[in-house]
Amino acid sequence: MADYQQVIDRIYTEVGPMWPKATPASYIPALAEADPSRFGIAIRTLAGETFTAGQADTPFSIQSISKVFTFAMVARLLGDSIWESVGREPSGTAFNSLVQLEYEQGRPRNPFINAGALVVTDRLIELYPRPKEAILDFVRSVTGNPDIYFDNRIARSELNAADRNLALAHLMKSFGNIHGDIDTLMDVYCCQCSISMTTIDLARSFLFLADRGVNPFDGTRILTPSQAKRLGAVMLTCGFYDESGDFAFRVGLPGKSGVGGGIAAYMPGNLSVAVWCPGLNAYGNSLLGIEALERFTTDIGNSIF
Ligand code: GLN
Repeated sequence: MADYQQVIDRIYTEVGPMWPKATPASYIPALAEADPSRFGIAIRTLAGETFTAGQADTPFSIQSISKVFTFAMVARLLGDSIWESVGREPSGTAFNSLVQLEYEQGRPRNPFINAGALVVTDRLIELYPRPKEAILDFVRSVTGNPDIYFDNRIARSELNAADRNLALAHLMKSFGNIHGDIDTLMDVYCCQCSISMTTIDLARSFLFLADRGVNPFDGTRILTPSQAKRLGAVMLTCGFYDESGDFAFRVGLPGKSGVGGGIAAYMPGNLSVAVWCPGLNAYGNSLLGIEALERFTTDIGNSIF
């Protein structure tokens, strides 16, 4: 077996100094303050080992990685009927694009673009009487860490700059695909995106996917093996928006990115891996995060392919 610690130490040393080539997200003002020289890597195996390099215990906001958790929360209760409201095809457009929604009658291409995630959170609000608490409870349980919270400053900053997400929500409401109150939806959505986690937490939080739907921290089954397979397939094809094909090509793992600079990915039956570096590329994905993950799967000679 590869020496994971040696591999990630080398990646940290070689990739870390490349950081000036990318800048953090600025359309959410509080994210623009992130220090682009931060760089963390964490691996957690199903056997229980943890390996880290860099600033793996610094918290940051997980942003769109939260879409995986809210989708799992909704899919486990709604089953297949979730696919009536949201598709499972790559969009080939930016994460916050409006263009397809009008042509496709308000049914988003997949749950990981903003439009799809807004539909999922709208359903979550219908299903869970205290949605924000339920989201925190879920994330805490899959991470095995009771100390995970929203970053209210980041949530407020996003709420004050939410025009595009509001436009998506209103457009979908006009097609009947958003059911509830839009202000409530935006509040819950901005809170879920603001969840503050470390790179170590993030690696731990994807272990239930590596374990095909079972939470390794308390043994409960969250998703059926079939639901876990499907969620992984949608991550592989849609988790990085219009860069999903390139991510699959370079890294070869199902995963999800966020504009906070985090990426979480996993190898079924084996391990989860998370990286964090706030500088983004043109697709809104962590530039060095992808570089690090590409080197990781290449160096260990293993991926899902
Ligand atoms: N909160 C961000 C938004 O809605 C999440 C986007 C992302 O991480 N790609 O714009």
